[in-house]
Amino acid sequence: MNGTTRPVLVVGSGPTGLLLAGDLAAAGVPVTVVEKRPREISNLSRAFVLHARSLEQLDARGLADGLEAVGRPLDRFRLFGRLTLDLAALPSRFKHVLVIPQYEVERALLRRAEEAGARLRYETEVTGLAQDADGVTVEVRAAGGRTERLRAAYVVGTDGMRSAVREAIGVPFPGRPVIRSVLLADVRLAEEPGSLLTADAARDAFAFLAPFGDGYHRVVCWQRGRSVPDGRPPGLAEIKEITRLALGRDFGMHDARWTSRFHSDERQAPVYRVGRVFLAGDAAHVHTPAGGQGMNTGLQDAANLSWKLAAVVQGHAPQALLDTYQAERHPVGRSVLRSSGGIVRLVTARPPWAPAARAVATAVLRHAGPVRRAVTGRVTGVGYAYRAPRGAHRLTGRRVPDVALAGGGRLYEALRGGRFVLIAPRAYEVRGGREGRLAAVRWASGRRTTVLVRPDGYVAWAAEAADAESVEAALAAHVG
Ligand SMILES: Cc1cc2nc3c(=O)[nH]c(=O)nc-3n(C[C@H](O)[C@H](O)[C@H](O)COP(=O)(O)OP(=O)(O)OC[C@H]3O[C@@H](n4cnc5c(N)ncnc54)[C@H](O)[C@@H]3O)c2cc1C
Repeated sequence: MNGTTRPVLVVGSGPTGLLLAGDLAAAGVPVTVVEKRPREISNLSRAFVLHARSLEQLDARGLADGLEAVGRPLDRFRLFGRLTLDLAALPSRFKHVLVIPQYEVERALLRRAEEAGARLRYETEVTGLAQDADGVTVEVRAAGGRTERLRAAYVVGTDGMRSAVREAIGVPFPGRPVIRSVLLADVRLAEEPGSLLTADAARDAFAFLAPFGDGYHRVVCWQRGRSVPDGRPPGLAEIKEITRLALGRDFGMHDARWTSRFHSDERQAPVYRVGRVFLAGDAAHVHTPAGGQGMNTGLQDAANLSWKLAAVVQGHAPQALLDTYQAERHPVGRSVLRSSGGIVRLVTARPPWAPAARAVATAVLRHAGPVRRAVTGRVTGVGYAYRAPRGAHRLTGRRVPDVALAGGGRLYEALRGGRFVLIAPRAYEVRGGREGRLAAVRWASGRRTTVLVRPDGYVAWAAEAADAESVEAALAAHVG
């Protein structure tokens, strides 16, 4: 055996793996990331929006403000030329989507992971793995074609859609292709379409435009029946033609800095964990880019798994905590597949039903507040909650917004450092070896509920007028 033995090996340095590795390293867990690409950051744009829940998670890691300074916040979407979805009422500090290229998000996450002590090994490709009762042996092809075996207590496959980790543990990836030949480009426009995200479908074509804030716009477009060989690079003329069909004009697109043609599948792994090996991000689920949820869902997977792995590796929680990763994240993955698939089916509905289907959808969204809130909650990620044990307080499992704390702070600042946060009506002194893993704060509002917030910003436990014994019991059960 050569190479290192580490508690956790993360395979793949996309956004999911980088967030996970940064959290583990920040918690003091030695972690290695192996990545088959060379170190240079890929300049592919790929995903281009951060939704509110991802921004909250990044805020809990001190990264949101820096990314907000680079990207372009948009507080409204326009759909099908008729409907405007307004995010101003979103119950979040981030009442917008942030349009930002994926590589900027990766750059910030990489810097944080390395500063926290994560070890990155580039040009190192996982080719197989085997697990036993004590750990996992991972076979890699390192630079120069040399084969090495690395040993880790746990492995997380964040190695994307064609995950070698998923294949090595024998987990299938059932699903189907959904949409073929979607064109993407980052272009300059001679004519501004306004500050809104613009999307419309007409004459068997669909197009979508969003400004990055650096002079470029992302255009995504598709035309029914257009079948082009996979290898042919998309030309600007083709993109302009489809955009004109869908939106009525092409806004004088020029200077494409990046173009891509891709096919989109809907697939989900039936299990996210086999023994000591986990799957997260695109390795666990892929769906259409509609709603811009791919990268965002992967970031949430990582935020859910990282503190659990750290707690188990460091002996603060039982192994059973790791089972909650599948229980909590698999249903969210399924829901994202459904919602992004629903948007695509609406957009690609065949005539003569297409205009009627879109008219019904926009009417429902415009007039039915609860439906609009549910759709917005799902797309932005703030609407998801995790299942609570029977008899638990009604807040258990719910996402906690960025509440104000006594003394002028706010919750997502208190969460920095990957700690649990106890929000109580009275001052509580952290002791018993929990220092460093628990912060105790008070509500600014004088509320009487005591809430224990998990490091990923969901309620672990809550009680009204809690006494000292019940708080101690909750801390022992959750913080360890
Ligand atoms: C063209 C395109 C457009 C997209 N548009 C959007 C969008 O608009 N909105 C959105 O939210 N999402 C979009 N996505 C999806 C989004 O990019 C992904 O959801 C996101 O990148 C997933 O992150 P990840 O970290 O899980 O996986 P990835 O970003 O795929 O990262 C996986 C990493 O693992 C590495 N790797 C793979 N195999 C191995 C191996 N065997 N050994 C070591 N390393 C390995 C890869 O090199 C890669 O760096 C798009 C994707 C594509 C391809």
